[in-house]
Amino acid sequence: MHYISFKGSSKKHQVGKIMCVGRNYAEHAKELGNDVPTFPIIFMKPASNLIHSGEPVIYPPHSHELHHEVELVLFIGSRIKNASIEEAEQAISGYGVGLDMTLRDLQNEYRKEGNPWTLAKCFDTSAVVSDFVLKADASDILQTEISLLVNDVRRQKNILADMIFKPAEVASYISHRMALEPGDLVFTGTPKGVSAVHAGDTLLAAIGDICTLYTRIVNQE
Ligand code: ZN
Repeated sequence: MHYISFKGSSKKHQVGKIMCVGRNYAEHAKELGNDVPTFPIIFMKPASNLIHSGEPVIYPPHSHELHHEVELVLFIGSRIKNASIEEAEQAISGYGVGLDMTLRDLQNEYRKEGNPWTLAKCFDTSAVVSDFVLKADASDILQTEISLLVNDVRRQKNILADMIFKPAEVASYISHRMALEPGDLVFTGTPKGVSAVHAGDTLLAAIGDICTLYTRIVNQE
């Protein structure tokens, strides 16, 4: 079973699908040479890609450019379909910090050829999450900073308020295309500062003092 846990609880919550948003911060869209989108760009990862803080990311041997993307992750607590912003807000029951690990060389190649990104985003260990916190215990989340240290050096740091599409807008938008269900996760996009990591690197991600995540990069055995 693929699951997440909430801080301070041993209960495991089964994870359904993992939805992700691309280019949700203007400065990040620019650093990859993209226009700022007028609607959320959505892709997915399978739940089998999920690992937890403390577990290693395995560098896939078919890539030479593995990038980190630190992101706010939403935990969906109730089913929504065609939801208003208010209904979508109600359905978000928790927050975590996550890493959307990305094979940038493959993504650039696929984009150039007009092919799907799927295999640039989906590989085992490509979705790393912290323990989650209840939304009620993290008021004013958008005024909080998200950050990532690689080998103790800061690579990404941004206030969540800079998101182009806010969490409830993203969840509402997705729900007009497909239902979101209890246990689904939504990775909400990364701020500027994405860059390469290598075997042996350690990654420490945080959203304020609300949640933290630790992982390291290892080569496949
Ligand atoms: Zn991402």
